[in-house]
Amino acid sequence: MTTRISGLPRRCVFCGGQPLTVEDVFPLWLGDYLGREPAYRVFSAGIGGGQRRGFRGLSMTARARRVCRDCNSGWMSSLESEASALIKPLLNETLPIPLTGGSGGNLTLLARWAMKTALMIQCVQRGSAIPPTVYEHFYATQLPPPSPQCQMFLARHTKHGISDGATSIGWSVKGPPSSAGAFAYEGEMYGVTFWIANVVLQIIGYVPIVPAAGTFTLNYPSPYWGYVEQFWPAIAGITWPLSRPVLDDPGLIAFSRALRGMLPSGASPGVV
Ligand SMILES: [Zn+2]
Repeated sequence: MTTRISGLPRRCVFCGGQPLTVEDVFPLWLGDYLGREPAYRVFSAGIGGGQRRGFRGLSMTARARRVCRDCNSGWMSSLESEASALIKPLLNETLPIPLTGGSGGNLTLLARWAMKTALMIQCVQRGSAIPPTVYEHFYATQLPPPSPQCQMFLARHTKHGISDGATSIGWSVKGPPSSAGAFAYEGEMYGVTFWIANVVLQIIGYVPIVPAAGTFTLNYPSPYWGYVEQFWPAIAGITWPLSRPVLDDPGLIAFSRALRGMLPSGASPGVV
């Protein structure tokens, strides 16, 4: 599927280059590995309440014409080959997989792959929940934004439910105005949750405008805190499969929608 996002220049979302080529949102190796037939499903309607973006299932064969040839066949292709060796055993769950932090650790690789996939998912949804500066940063550094402006979580989902999908939510935060008329803080928050079979990845970020070095404190929804493991910024190490409860279908949907409760530090509910 190719979706054109109107109002944006037809240039590479990462480097601004041309010509554009068609890139698979989920790499072909993944659909092949899982033996998935091409399919497209919509699980549920959009989320209201002043927040942008929607909630929909994703096909393993979703494609987007938003990336240039050099990015597609260069760094993106290298990242996919590197990541496939890590992701396949995570999907398999036949052996315990040690996941380690640090610059050479596979948690950093997982975080890079999750960020790239989350950025590509935006290209087949109605506009990007993730601000353009995050694309630029990722292209320049090949790393997700550092903590505390980006945090990632890993969870496990039952293999017998909704197989693949994604939610993306982006929203602006502001307030409260100071006596000088400026806002105490202002920025853009985004949250992307996607799941492939048993592997659930969630990315939460904040792009501060005021103050420029603004941070956020995650108010993670408590019913699901026990299900998730934070892995970015990279921790010392964890073992997959996680020794935590497994999300069922209703839990997975609630978990991904719980992003609506996220606020930057100092914010109070209702400030959007
Ligand atoms: Zn490019």
